[in-house]
Amino acid sequence: MAINKDHLTAEQIQVTQFCGTEPPFSGKLLNEKRIGNYVCAVCKEILFDSSTKYESGSGWPSFFDAVAEKIETKEDTTLGMIRTEILCKICSSHLGHIFPDGPKPTGKRYCVNSLSLEFQVNE
Ligand SMILES: [Zn+2]
Repeated sequence: MAINKDHLTAEQIQVTQFCGTEPPFSGKLLNEKRIGNYVCAVCKEILFDSSTKYESGSGWPSFFDAVAEKIETKEDTTLGMIRTEILCKICSSHLGHIFPDGPKPTGKRYCVNSLSLEFQVNE
């Protein structure tokens, strides 16, 4: 299935298609606290729920859980580190990385670029 990417900005293309990273504390969703869903900026699938978002202090939107069947993980050894990249399983867009230092109950931190997501507020 071809996914239309015409709606993406140059910054969003860089992050979602070329594994880019937005500067910390720059993202528009970092301080988003409303109730709703975080969808893939490219294909609009729901990837995260606002109830799993938390303040990690990292400078990027952070979640302790995700809609598991929509997320794909891949080992990333760039920058001399072994990290686990997370991607949208539906359209293969880069989202960010997952780290094992999140809060309970999962202990996971999904560290995601604002540019990879769009927020849909629950009416
Ligand atoms: Zn997607």
